[in-house]
Amino acid sequence: MKFKSIFLCLPRTKKPKPKISLRKEEQEDGMPIGKLYKQVGQDAEEQVLSGKRLRRSGLAGRAINIEKYDPTTVSKIRYPKQESDEELIKTALNNNEFIRNLLEDEQLQAIVDAMYFREVDSGEVIIREGTIGTRLYVSANGTFQVTIDGKLKNSFDDNRVFGEFAVLYDVKCQATIKALSSGGVWILDQDVYQDIKLTSDIQYHNKLLTFLKNIPKLNDASDEILKQVVDLLKHEFFPAEHIIIRQGDIGDKCYIINAGSVTVRKDGDEVRKMVYGEFFGQLALLNDTVRQATVTADSPGVECFSLSQSEFIEYFGNIKDIKDIPEIPVRTPTLPVVKPFENVNFDDLKVVGILGGGGFGQVQLVQHKEHKQLVFALKRIKKIDVVQRQQQEHVYNEKIIQMRCNNPFIVQMYKTYRDSKYIYFLMESCLGGDLSTVLNQQANHRLEESAAKFYAASVLEAFSYLHERNIIYRDLKPENLLLDARGYLKLSDFGSAKQLESQRKTYTFVGTTEYLAPEIILNRRHNRGVDYWTLGILIFELLVGETPFCSSNDMRTCELILRGIKEVNFPKIVDSKAEDLVKKLCKPLAVDRLGYQNIGIEAIRNHRWFANFNWYELRCGQLEPPIKRHIKNNTDMQYSAYFNGRGSVIPPDELSGWDNEF
Ligand code: ADP
Ligand code: MG
Repeated sequence: MKFKSIFLCLPRTKKPKPKISLRKEEQEDGMPIGKLYKQVGQDAEEQVLSGKRLRRSGLAGRAINIEKYDPTTVSKIRYPKQESDEELIKTALNNNEFIRNLLEDEQLQAIVDAMYFREVDSGEVIIREGTIGTRLYVSANGTFQVTIDGKLKNSFDDNRVFGEFAVLYDVKCQATIKALSSGGVWILDQDVYQDIKLTSDIQYHNKLLTFLKNIPKLNDASDEILKQVVDLLKHEFFPAEHIIIRQGDIGDKCYIINAGSVTVRKDGDEVRKMVYGEFFGQLALLNDTVRQATVTADSPGVECFSLSQSEFIEYFGNIKDIKDIPEIPVRTPTLPVVKPFENVNFDDLKVVGILGGGGFGQVQLVQHKEHKQLVFALKRIKKIDVVQRQQQEHVYNEKIIQMRCNNPFIVQMYKTYRDSKYIYFLMESCLGGDLSTVLNQQANHRLEESAAKFYAASVLEAFSYLHERNIIYRDLKPENLLLDARGYLKLSDFGSAKQLESQRKTYTFVGTTEYLAPEIILNRRHNRGVDYWTLGILIFELLVGETPFCSSNDMRTCELILRGIKEVNFPKIVDSKAEDLVKKLCKPLAVDRLGYQNIGIEAIRNHRWFANFNWYELRCGQLEPPIKRHIKNNTDMQYSAYFNGRGSVIPPDELSGWDNEF
């Protein structure tokens, strides 16, 4: 499977503002790991407006259809190695926190097996600053030198990992690594890493599915339901002699053994042993039952998957029997009944100014030449970039999904145009600017709590509409939240959105680094759970002025995300209710996040941070917006102070025809 992922993220420079230390134990690692890479951003430097927060572009990897993904087609090339080489590679990988966090034990072996050796000559450049990296290296022997901007940073001759961030997606190297002597390196290619992760995730889920199918009560359920049950399984380890369940107790959990064994005792007498694949405690699944036996972990311990009754009920509702769980039908989004601007032709429009810019092009404010009351936002995307970055599917999704959405909290898309160089999206214009610009104008780049609540609630309204239609959004951040002429919020930029089939999941690497959910970094399957995660990050950013995991480089950010929200010190300005909500939204496992359970987004609305918030008035547009906009006329661009230093470079024609339907 060939893979070229796209990465358009801007490097983050520190914002010049009072420093709030969010980290409980701040530690910078020895090797300039993060500094080795710079993400492939479009002239990021030009966008650094002095003293302003950087605009963050989204990133998008290959679109993967897991239903059609065939793990047997994955390259199975393995390179046999001496034991000492295996050890060397494993130690180096284990010594690297970033990699250690990405890999599970079984994957480590697969990665080691897939690495190949290459000799390097003295003076050879292995990684060159500014070029795109797609490989991870482990130095085997020889001496290596690290330079940044031609300046010597350090040199090393031990066995260590470098280039590790490139396994996630294409990034620009920020340092040059050169061999100072002849030697050798072990190499892992990005696409091999991605395939190993994907295959192992699929195998893991299939194994759990098989486990579940053997459990009475569950084996009647359809595969669709069982796939959801799989997500509720938690991995637990019990040391030797630990009593996992005790006879006479009321049971809540059922267990499946993944490794090791247990001893079952009834009234003190040993009844039997249980091993891999066997399960116990299943009576607890649908009703509170007294445990019939005591189950103890054998030496050296036992690894189980557990399924809790209360979580099961929270997720599926209070059902009597698993057979009663209804399959959730896919709701096809309703097309807007009237297409109000069907007759607006491209040639009828004239450009008034630039509203914004992003990864692929520009957003212009355009006005109808004849009917001057008609003013729109026109997003213009360079086709050549889309094709080169293999983003056709994402752009197509953007059109299909955003055109079909019809909700006051979502920017309405009316129609699309195309020519030989660009595709265009005609949308309602939001003259109030975007929330990123609003944050830039605030002291310390943060909002009053009431304002943060208003915007977070508006996002929830949009999410609620999308999730009901099985659409996940995946790129929440202030840059994508626009204010209309009144100051009401609208969700925009559906370039990362995806409509899932029913309760299915997807794999594609999309999002914006600081907002990435752990399952995306870990290349695991994901679904609407990522949106709850990003909402937690957004609430934090609105209240604090920066995101909880932001750091000087993106790899470090990913590391911090994997360490989790529990490691983050919430500044005092965040009250305990908001902190509680953020922590409940940013749980490491999607199934534990507030909103994921049976009652869905209502659980978030009911959180005490939103106590007394008037949802009805918000929906009716009666709530006073926290930040007022004073728009003079329909082409007033005072709030869209966007400066695109690049000007517009006219792209070459792109005539392959992928955009015929635009
Ligand atoms: P990208 O996919 O490149 O991130 P976006 O759709 O997010 O592009 O648009 C980039 C910027 O353009 C936004 O952050 C916003 O400032 C501005 N913008 C986009 N759509 C509109 C709109 N409908 N009205 C006003 N400004 C807009
Ligand atoms: Mg955007």
